[in-house]
Amino acid sequence: MIVIRKVDELRKYSIEQRSKGKTIGFVPTMGFLHEGHISLITRASVECDLVITSLFVNPTQFAPHEDFDSYPRDFEHDYNLAKNADCDVLFVPAREEIYPEGATTSLSVGDLAYVLEGKYRPHFFDGVATVVSKLFSATLPNKAFFGQKDYQQTLVVKALSKDMLMGVEIVVCPIVREPNGLAMSSRNKYLTDDERNKAKILFQSLVATKEFIESGERNRKKINAYLHDSLRKLESLKIDYALAVDASNLEEPNEFDEGSEIVLLLGTILGKTRLIDNMVVKVPITKYNEDDRFQIGLK
Ligand code: AMP
Repeated sequence: MIVIRKVDELRKYSIEQRSKGKTIGFVPTMGFLHEGHISLITRASVECDLVITSLFVNPTQFAPHEDFDSYPRDFEHDYNLAKNADCDVLFVPAREEIYPEGATTSLSVGDLAYVLEGKYRPHFFDGVATVVSKLFSATLPNKAFFGQKDYQQTLVVKALSKDMLMGVEIVVCPIVREPNGLAMSSRNKYLTDDERNKAKILFQSLVATKEFIESGERNRKKINAYLHDSLRKLESLKIDYALAVDASNLEEPNEFDEGSEIVLLLGTILGKTRLIDNMVVKVPITKYNEDDRFQIGLK
């Protein structure tokens, strides 16, 4: 594995590799790698000839009161984990490589940036879109790999690649969890042992609500109430949002259609730590139409 710190050098590398017919998979991260990140690197190495992973704590996706300064950073730890995974290039740019002095251009995502997570972090998705676009320009990937952990972000990045004609295929990878169900996150480092244990309520509530839906409930308000009731068992958990939306477009119908996909989205704060999580649930099909009845011999 090689380490590249300059944008020009990375772009030269990628142009050379692509001219040799190699495909490039890109895994953007903010570092402090864990098994969730490694799962993206592994998936990228299966689907592409070369894997480039970036480590960059992006200042434009943090508001002034957020944890940019205290965000965990540990280059040696990241280097060793990436090297032991199938990463070919670790891209570690300084801030001025990504935001050259005097840079004023940024991207605006639109409505998707200001709902759910974006309602509580209004600066966040424009910052993500801007940095991902810069990183794509530096990396020239065929495919980029993102975690379902940041569900809304995957929709933003898919729209970015499509709207800006980038031609980068966005691959969404499953959430990797701790043994107690807590979704892995660099920010879990902020949790005390007690909080880490209590935080399993997020996963438990998602699983319970998934079962509620799978038992036949399609009414959005009832599903949301069930999810809230389950989360409220942990009184110290502050709930920014906890709700069921259409997984494809985040819309909120009164009743979800049979066979459609719901995503249960959580934005919460435990102690000083912001925890997000989600689960996609397929709404069961309970009624047969006439053709189905015929095919399964009920006629
Ligand atoms: P971050 O370093 O937190 O910005 O995350 C970099 C990438 O890793 C994003 O695409 C995340 O969605 C993904 N990721 C973070 N945590 C997990 C996890 N527990 N499972 C799968 N992917 C994850």
